[in-house]
Amino acid sequence: MAEITKSQASQELDKIRPQLNSWRDAYYTKDAPLVEDNVYDKLYNRLLELEKMYPELVTPDSPSQEVGDETLPDFNKVTHDIPMLSMGDVFSESELAEFNDRIEKNVGHEVDYNVELKIDGLSLSLIYENGILVQGSTRGNGTIGENVTENVKTIKDIPQKLSRPLSIEVRGECFMSKKEFLRLNQERESQGHQVFANPRNAAAGSLRQLDPKITASRKLDTFMYTIVTFDGLEVTTQHQALETLKELGFNVNPTAQVTTGLKGVKDFIEHYGEIRDDLNYGIDGVVLKVDDLALQRELGNTVKVPRWEIAYKFPPEQAESIVHDITWTIGRTGVLTPTAVMDPVSLAGTTVSRATLHNEDMIRQKDIRIGDTVLLHKAGDIIPEVSQVVLSKRPADSVPAEIPTHCPYCGSKLIHLEDEVALRCINPKCPAQVKEQLTHFASRNAMNIDGLGPKIIEQLYTKELIKDVADLYKLTADDLATLDGFKEKSINNLLTAIDNSKTNSVERLLFGLGIRHVGAKAARILAEHFGDLDSIMKASSEEILEVNTMGEIIANSISTYFENDDVKKLINELKSVNVNMNFIGSSNSNETNSHFTDKIIVITGTLKDYKRSQLSEILENLGANVTSSVTKKTDILIAGEKAGSKLAKAQKLGTEIIDETTLSDYLDNDKE
Ligand code: NAD
Repeated sequence: MAEITKSQASQELDKIRPQLNSWRDAYYTKDAPLVEDNVYDKLYNRLLELEKMYPELVTPDSPSQEVGDETLPDFNKVTHDIPMLSMGDVFSESELAEFNDRIEKNVGHEVDYNVELKIDGLSLSLIYENGILVQGSTRGNGTIGENVTENVKTIKDIPQKLSRPLSIEVRGECFMSKKEFLRLNQERESQGHQVFANPRNAAAGSLRQLDPKITASRKLDTFMYTIVTFDGLEVTTQHQALETLKELGFNVNPTAQVTTGLKGVKDFIEHYGEIRDDLNYGIDGVVLKVDDLALQRELGNTVKVPRWEIAYKFPPEQAESIVHDITWTIGRTGVLTPTAVMDPVSLAGTTVSRATLHNEDMIRQKDIRIGDTVLLHKAGDIIPEVSQVVLSKRPADSVPAEIPTHCPYCGSKLIHLEDEVALRCINPKCPAQVKEQLTHFASRNAMNIDGLGPKIIEQLYTKELIKDVADLYKLTADDLATLDGFKEKSINNLLTAIDNSKTNSVERLLFGLGIRHVGAKAARILAEHFGDLDSIMKASSEEILEVNTMGEIIANSISTYFENDDVKKLINELKSVNVNMNFIGSSNSNETNSHFTDKIIVITGTLKDYKRSQLSEILENLGANVTSSVTKKTDILIAGEKAGSKLAKAQKLGTEIIDETTLSDYLDNDKE
């Protein structure tokens, strides 16, 4: 470390402090970080380095002296009697060894550590009185947090009542699974809203909501890991605390291990570093905690972090590529989404050649241009994203990326709806949007018209055989005979599939109409509640609001949609061709029907085309239950290469075994 004078250090700190504080405000208070964590960490570590050189330059507003940030003004506040601290972090094994040396020097002997995964969420405190949940709160600035009790009550894995009538405070991590993060961001993007940068911010943004219904609509999970205060419990170590938390009814991460000194820590880090992409939740490192609680108390805390624990942070997974093009695609709601098209590059286990840029704000903020070399990472370990432009490699003749002013598909002027970051084409007759709507209408979770995918819709639309969903029901064999490769059998199959869809339970139609904010689940609840489409059409916003889980946004969206005369005309046309308008029930509801639906499935061995986490997600979306060990209950074993003991066990039990080729065939058949 190059020595610098005190006045140079002071000048540098004067620049670093406000920069870090503004990043912290965006990250902690607004749940919308402006830079990647590793960019923040690098500057933060520089601040620590300078403050270590000249401790007299530490100011009270230095980020090294503060935990988190201010609480949002709209929430009631709670005071944490025992502060909720941050955690020291290290980025290398040698720094980990230094931490261990410090501990051993302090206590005079080797110690046991409880090694845990560092879950990428936000800290949560829960207080129970006589076994009943009475308060849930965020960390806030460590001393004052936000009261989020009503929101916490909507999180399914948090017990409202403990298995014993204890008065106790416990803490842990509230997080969003990768699957839910993907779902939420897709939904937000299609609705024109800003997407969350990673699952941690998505979890924080979802828990810190004034309307508990919004929290409830986003599936949050928890792993609890600390017992703060307790009565009537015999707990002397961290690993006992985890066991007790489990007994009391909390969700506890199952991977923790006790190790003496640093033995085994390297293996733990290596193992979870390798398989982190396969976990269904994000982790950003590993936490080492002195296991003995008495020793923890002895070691104590600094103003900001406990001295008895440390986080080892995984290095960021990044790759460089060159942007060749920025394309804009349109969704069925008219939102335009930009995508960077790049040279293929290997990133965290997959080949990446496209990265979503989400919206024009992102292009402008990061100033991403065609021809730029960019650094890529995977948001939440899943979605390839551009972290930043490598400015030193920018071509001399580069110009800012062009943001379209008119729809690339129909030429109408693009607009921003109020509060939306997205560019939107609001021409209801925009051909690209209409085709997307038709594809949605025919898709599996909507009207489920087998064989009617985007390619056929494109042809039907271009040949002017259909212009809206009602036209699908007027198609004749002669019409279909004009399509590429359509012979008698394919014509009959498609006509039958279209005809069959007329008898669907009405929630499929309601979802298929593509009303903003009405997903498959909401459609089903509404259909079940009102019984038929006419009653839904007649219902006022107030009546819709009375339905369990329906919020104002959905209620307004539905009533506005059905007020439209074109919509009324469309529904009448659908009625005239005998499309069912009644709720029939679960036998014919919009649940998927695939070879994997309702099956218990285990995946083993190495797969060529799928990452395990992705495949699990695909199968779960088809209604399967993916588990980890083969038992008598297992229905299907998907066996990749080098499958070992699980394959042998499945063979012994006579379980259905399918290889990757068969799997792909099934999945292809399942596609819309
Ligand atoms: P932190 O999130 O790195 O670590 C402390 C937290 O870890 C605890 O509060 C707890 O919630 C959590 N945790 C997860 N698993 C745990 C386990 N098993 N045991 C104990 N705790 C566990 O610390 P912090 O002070 O909240 O935030 C610092 C982090 O935030 C850094 O990673 C930094 O990069 C990031 N940050 C980023 C920006 C940005 O602009 N990108 C700004 C500020 C902070």
